[in-house]
Amino acid sequence: MEQIMETFPWGRLPRIKIYNTLGRKESEFPTVDEHPEVSIYVCGPTTYQFVHVGNMRGPVFFDVVRKIFSIHGYRVRFVTNFTDIDDKMIAEAEKQGEDDPIQLSARFVHEYYTDLFALGVEPADFYPKVSCHVEEIIKYIQLIMDNGHAYIGGDGSVYFDIPSFPEYLKLSGRHMDDLLDESRQTEIVEAKRDPRDFALWKAAKPGEPQWPSPWGPGRPGWHIECSVMSAFYLGPSFDIHGGGQELKFPHHENEIAQAKCGHPDEDFARIWMHNEWVTLDGAKMAKSGRSFKIRDVLKDTDPEVVRLFLLSAHYRKPVDFTFDKLEELSKAKGRIVEVFNRLAEFLRWRAEERPENWLRIWRHWDEGHRIDAEAFDRKMNDGAPVEDIFDKEQSAAETLVNETRIHLHTAHTHFADDFNTQGATGELFQLVNRINAGLEVMSSENPDDRHAANIALGGLVHLTDILGILRPERSNLYATEEAREHTGTGGGDAEKLADVLLKVREAARAGRNYELSDLIRDMLAEIGAEVRDSKDGPKIHWK
Ligand SMILES: [Zn+2]
Repeated sequence: MEQIMETFPWGRLPRIKIYNTLGRKESEFPTVDEHPEVSIYVCGPTTYQFVHVGNMRGPVFFDVVRKIFSIHGYRVRFVTNFTDIDDKMIAEAEKQGEDDPIQLSARFVHEYYTDLFALGVEPADFYPKVSCHVEEIIKYIQLIMDNGHAYIGGDGSVYFDIPSFPEYLKLSGRHMDDLLDESRQTEIVEAKRDPRDFALWKAAKPGEPQWPSPWGPGRPGWHIECSVMSAFYLGPSFDIHGGGQELKFPHHENEIAQAKCGHPDEDFARIWMHNEWVTLDGAKMAKSGRSFKIRDVLKDTDPEVVRLFLLSAHYRKPVDFTFDKLEELSKAKGRIVEVFNRLAEFLRWRAEERPENWLRIWRHWDEGHRIDAEAFDRKMNDGAPVEDIFDKEQSAAETLVNETRIHLHTAHTHFADDFNTQGATGELFQLVNRINAGLEVMSSENPDDRHAANIALGGLVHLTDILGILRPERSNLYATEEAREHTGTGGGDAEKLADVLLKVREAARAGRNYELSDLIRDMLAEIGAEVRDSKDGPKIHWK
């Protein structure tokens, strides 16, 4: 594993540091050698409606977290759940005139997958649902009861006994006394011994989904599912538990209480990561009230622009949603696409120069230019000023390769520093500027310049892969026809004009004017219209 880290030409990857909500401090994650597999559980949605932009911040952010761990050489096991049984799910089913909340949930789970796919979020290893794990939940509740931390209340429900667990509220930093006051004010449930106790198992009510249990028919309370399903897929001790910051209390406090009282000798989650909200005019973009469904936003916004937006702030800081910001990021993404196309044009794509070979090309380059990668590593980590890192006299090609090296190194330093996507994205844009400057002075006839352009292209592809942008193979599922035309995938006037030019080219060929016919073909290719031969004669193929 260590070898993977050694082979990056921009120096050794820095150790990953993560801020742990539990204990409120940042610490270094164990190295790949010490701990080759990373297990992550992130709380998923209660699926009764279409999700809004804010709901997608966690999934998109953790998508990047997984990629960073993979690049560092870790094997990642990632689990995120669906809540298809709880009070809210049942209430919503009734509101929407649906007899079976599990059926309603199944429909929205499907819609949620579609939204994740549209945003280019890689699939999790497992997507457990509560209704598929009731058997394990019952066993787990029994374990908590056997350990003396749960009791059957006066209403036949099973409650967690809060005063029996003095470590309660360590994660959120709240106080037991304040909580007692709050609980007394909000709900008086006679069946509970203490107003702070919460339900592990809810006794059946008419019309609600129910399962048999040792305590009579009923259904799981909300919080128990995540303690049970994380243990089922990752074991009772695992690395990272993630979720929105609103879940700290009571959901995550209750998860810890259940896990610690079910499996007292296990760690449960060692690191807790909480992402902040997407805000609208400074307030949380709530499910109710003013919010923007992700699929509505994607009707006329490139999903990769939405990704850039969601990653534009550090995950522990709120990010405010405005259409102006999307517009601004759309232009920024345009600059990345433009430089990508410039590089492709400069290199006029050769098979041996595909971006997947760029690391090989880079190593070859380093040998020829006698770059001491280790010395670079040392200087960068010592915080030496950039101008001191390389020789003063550099060719344009050397300058571009070295600038690519610096921006990749710095981007990875940001990624490793508690997954600072904001800082890393800044490095990407600086790299774009440096490539544009390099292309101004380099020549595609010069082999050194071509090598440098290849390395810069590889660096660009590497960073955009991590952020999940420039994925041409994933078209926008929800784009309207009008939006498609704007993004240059053909249609409308351009299509008609290209067909006219194709006819002119045919006439030129018939008159044996191959110079003209080739010129027309090349010019069409420049606007993304490739001429391809078919059995019905030449056809335009839009790229
Ligand atoms: Zn959860």
